[in-house]
Amino acid sequence: MRAKRSKKYRKLMHQYELTFGFREAYQVLVDSNFLRATDQFKMELIPALERTVQGKVKPLLTKCSLAAIMAAQPINPKTEKPYRPLFLPPPTELPLRHCSHNADSTPIDEIECLLSLLSPSSDVKKNKEHYILATAEPILRKTNPNEPKRKWKTEDDRKEEEAMRRSKTLRSSARSIPGVPIIYVKRSVMVLEPMSNPSEMVRDGHERGKFRAGLDVDASLGKRKRDGENDDEEESDEEPKKKRTPKVKQPNPLSMKKAKKRPEAAAPKKKEAPAKPEGDDEAASKPKRKRRHNKGVHWEIEDAAESQPAEAAA
Ligand SMILES: [Zn+2]
Repeated sequence: MRAKRSKKYRKLMHQYELTFGFREAYQVLVDSNFLRATDQFKMELIPALERTVQGKVKPLLTKCSLAAIMAAQPINPKTEKPYRPLFLPPPTELPLRHCSHNADSTPIDEIECLLSLLSPSSDVKKNKEHYILATAEPILRKTNPNEPKRKWKTEDDRKEEEAMRRSKTLRSSARSIPGVPIIYVKRSVMVLEPMSNPSEMVRDGHERGKFRAGLDVDASLGKRKRDGENDDEEESDEEPKKKRTPKVKQPNPLSMKKAKKRPEAAAPKKKEAPAKPEGDDEAASKPKRKRRHNKGVHWEIEDAAESQPAEAAA
């Protein structure tokens, strides 16, 4: 199988897992046409299925499918029972799915049986057991290209047409049930059909639900974030309080010492307040020096050198 196709099928099965709850090992209902086709095209049953669904499989054959296979077999005169066909794998490889439709478990039509297992309830179409359907194009007689076209249909022609019609009915009915992966063998190629429209509708609804859930999650995350922000704010409120309280405590005694007139005033103002008078003192002293500087250039340089460390210290 090409890498591109296997990737596509893996993605498809992943969608069945997410939307419909499929899990490995996948239960695969194989029908009589599928067994005949895999035998004719020399496909190994389980490896071929596992390559197709990109996972472990558990193939199953319904009692009704087995009955249909055996009904088409010639009878062994010695045992008076039908010959076991070579295309039928042993029960160890392909176990029986015990379906009991009638009170006495009389086999019913193969297609009716498969559809009843794929969707047990007639009210709501739902693949409760998570079955995969594996079917195939009926094997038709090899036609001789040299043989002239007949103008009338033979009995075999009608049988083949009926087989084709039933095969199409099985697949179209299976497609109408949401969540039924369909494996189909046609002309020696085993394919996994794309999702049917009913399946896609469920998947898209499911994805919308997930999207909504995502929105809800985002919203709750947002709330959490907001809560977190609130927590941060509360923390940030608490931290400044811790920082502020010592600040308030520290400047208060200072302010009490320097400015006794306004003990209630904010700390920074009080910090600035004591600085200003000092600056004013320097500013007051500087003009005095400048007046001295006016006397000579040398004085200015010396005083500037002296004033700089003084300012830095201040
Ligand atoms: Zn059955």
